[in-house]
Amino acid sequence: TDACLSEVEASGALNAFVHNTPDLAREQAKAADARIKSGDTPDMCGIPLGIKDLFCTKGVPSQAASRILEGFKPEYESTVTQKLWDEGAVMLGKLNMDEFAMGSSNETSTYGNAVNPWRRDNDNTQLTPGGSSGGSASAVSADLCLAATGTDTGGSIRQPAAFTGIVGLKPTYGRCSRWGTVAFASSLDQAGPMTKTVRDAAIMLKAIAGHDMKDSTSADLTVPDFEAALTGDIRGKKIGIPREYHMDGMPGEIEALWKQGADMLRDAGAEIVDISLPHTKYALPAYYVIAPAEASSNLARYDGVRFGHRAKLSQGDGVNEMYEKTRAEGFGDEVKRRVMVGTYVLSAGFYDAYYNRARKVRTLIKRDFEQVFDDGVDAILTPATPSAAFGLGEMNDADPVKMYLNDVFTVTVNLAGLPGISVPAGLDKQGLPLGLQLIGQPWKEADLLAQAEVLE
Ligand code: GLN
Repeated sequence: TDACLSEVEASGALNAFVHNTPDLAREQAKAADARIKSGDTPDMCGIPLGIKDLFCTKGVPSQAASRILEGFKPEYESTVTQKLWDEGAVMLGKLNMDEFAMGSSNETSTYGNAVNPWRRDNDNTQLTPGGSSGGSASAVSADLCLAATGTDTGGSIRQPAAFTGIVGLKPTYGRCSRWGTVAFASSLDQAGPMTKTVRDAAIMLKAIAGHDMKDSTSADLTVPDFEAALTGDIRGKKIGIPREYHMDGMPGEIEALWKQGADMLRDAGAEIVDISLPHTKYALPAYYVIAPAEASSNLARYDGVRFGHRAKLSQGDGVNEMYEKTRAEGFGDEVKRRVMVGTYVLSAGFYDAYYNRARKVRTLIKRDFEQVFDDGVDAILTPATPSAAFGLGEMNDADPVKMYLNDVFTVTVNLAGLPGISVPAGLDKQGLPLGLQLIGQPWKEADLLAQAEVLE
């Protein structure tokens, strides 16, 4: 913990940690020491972690990287973080992210962007660590902590993991409780581990998973021993390569790493098969209707009354002015865009044309996966992202859709509620990490982790 705390202290240039909790960390570390001495050693005991700012942590600022939550210190602890503290893990502080987890580059944060510790060969341009869990990815990749929590609504664990050369696991929807995690799009949001290795991901998932009375969508299933499943034996497993993920214009080196990944799985005894997920091309538009719709509803609670920031009012201002001014000041541009899009697609005149249609498309996407799994496929191998990390500011032109395109391989998994993991696959021509994604059957994270370990 002391070693991590001094790394965190010296890591200002990465802007990964946005709120440090050194006193709490030392206190937790001492308690963990005592616990270990007494012979009680849960897996996460004494492990120093960073926590994404989206998780409510009792008495510690939890702002979802938004100005509107300025000054908010929750009275309660999220279930996921509570489970970690119950096992004796140590919190070093809160990690940077895109505002309300909306973004793919960590550039929408009220704290300013986090920075990727990686650079292109012979080029010192600062790169994005990805988003929205950019601070988590940067911190784990730069060895500021041993692991971090992330959340993934449309790729926010897997894409930053790929951009920074670490492992990121989005569990099956319902595997981890969402209670106490600031809601973005409730039918898609899922917490998960961001770690240096697949084994660490297995250990951490076991700690944070499980049924929670406080989240009706958390599944009442026993949590397997994910680490015990890492046997290295994947013989006879059928791994599908979806045709539709061969995108036009994708760099040849991504295609090559993808093929190399398939070869590694085949060498370990898996069977590689060609599959089709025909509705893939509709996933991105469906996601960017459903996620903003749910966000516009979830974010209605930030009204200047219940949480955080309230705008200064002028003489004669009433409650409507208070809402308007607070939300105008408190939300950044991307959040405002999502609220506007979401409100529009849910409005009486457009509900059927957009929201309802997107929900139907979501069902078709889910069925694509079900069909493939029914045909005996155990998991699906794809690239995690269509490119390596891009330069900070590079995507910030007038067209937000350019940024959304980054999520093309990840959003399908959230729409279908499936588990997905990104594993470092190698480096591109410029020396930047790329990730491969494995998508598993619902609740089969143990198998998925075993397959992912073969790719390491
Ligand atoms: N980039 C996606 C978005 O902006 C995903 C975000 C996430 O997974 N939290 O919606």
